[in-house]
Amino acid sequence: DQAREAYRPVFIISDFAADSEEWDYSLQARLESALSEDRISIKLQPQVAMNDGTIVGVEALARWVDVERGEIPPSRFILQCERVGRLDELTKRILGKSLDAMADMARAGQNPRMSVNVSAIQFVDSRIAELIEKSLATHSADARQLTIEVTETARIEDFSAARDVFEQIGRLGVRLSIDDFGVASANLEALYELPFDELKIDQMFVQNMHRSQTARAIVSNVIRLAREAKLVSVAEGIEDKETFELLRNLGCDIGQGYHIARPMVLSGLQEILDLQRDHPMLRHQT
Ligand code: C2E
Ligand code: MG
Ligand code: MG
Ligand code: MG
Repeated sequence: DQAREAYRPVFIISDFAADSEEWDYSLQARLESALSEDRISIKLQPQVAMNDGTIVGVEALARWVDVERGEIPPSRFILQCERVGRLDELTKRILGKSLDAMADMARAGQNPRMSVNVSAIQFVDSRIAELIEKSLATHSADARQLTIEVTETARIEDFSAARDVFEQIGRLGVRLSIDDFGVASANLEALYELPFDELKIDQMFVQNMHRSQTARAIVSNVIRLAREAKLVSVAEGIEDKETFELLRNLGCDIGQGYHIARPMVLSGLQEILDLQRDHPMLRHQT
């Protein structure tokens, strides 16, 4: 046994797996078939105007329920997609489903904006701009109804390379939002260098507002920064009424979080949109 232990082969971990705890081959096979069988879906989370609670937008969040492993969190499968060069493929499918949902809602006279997440590293080449342009065309969708939330801006090393791609997307009429603002050191540089329309305050700060003076100071100043830079401010991760009120008093434009609504399937969202239309007073009850 000791001898066998001594001769146990040592694998040289290749570059792409070097940053991971483990390389999960079976997850990779499952992801591949989930993509090809189109089994990754979306849930939609409402975004409301802070002044009157009207649903003005929805964020599409990717969901994957594997038959054996159950629900796999997006943080996990998005990283996996990235490692195997499948992020654009995932985006294509999520975008397609989001634009389908937008068309369904439009047919019912419902017109919230749609936000779709795209990782910053996807902006280093112009394939993402072409993908967005093509999706809008195949769905005959109004580009101005679409917002791209750019996540993980800390990972862009060369903003000058990304700038062209951002501008290309902006020229389509699509709005650009900087997601999770405040968590990454490159956030301010990204904000300064790239043509954003909207700023989403990271939920870590929002969730700590009720107990931390520092969190409140950060959020308050980020909202002011957004206002002065003529960006729409969005707070995510609002979990209680107290936080909602604090944000409203600070002049935050748009809110999102479990206190308002969880991510939901399209039919559930459509029911709420109908309720709001028929009973405008419901808006104030957020
Ligand atoms: P994100 O874009 O910042 O999305 C917000 C996350 O917070 C979502 O988690 C949402 O379900 C969750 N959330 C919303 N309200 C609350 C709340 O009140 N309390 C708490 N604790 N959480 C709340 P989710 O769906 O697990 O997504 C996690 C992250 O995965 C997203 O963060 C986004 O960065 C990424 N992601 C999701 N879908 C996609 C996608 O289609 N493409 C890409 N590239 N990334 C995606
Ligand atoms: Mg987001
Ligand atoms: Mg976020
Ligand atoms: Mg986040």
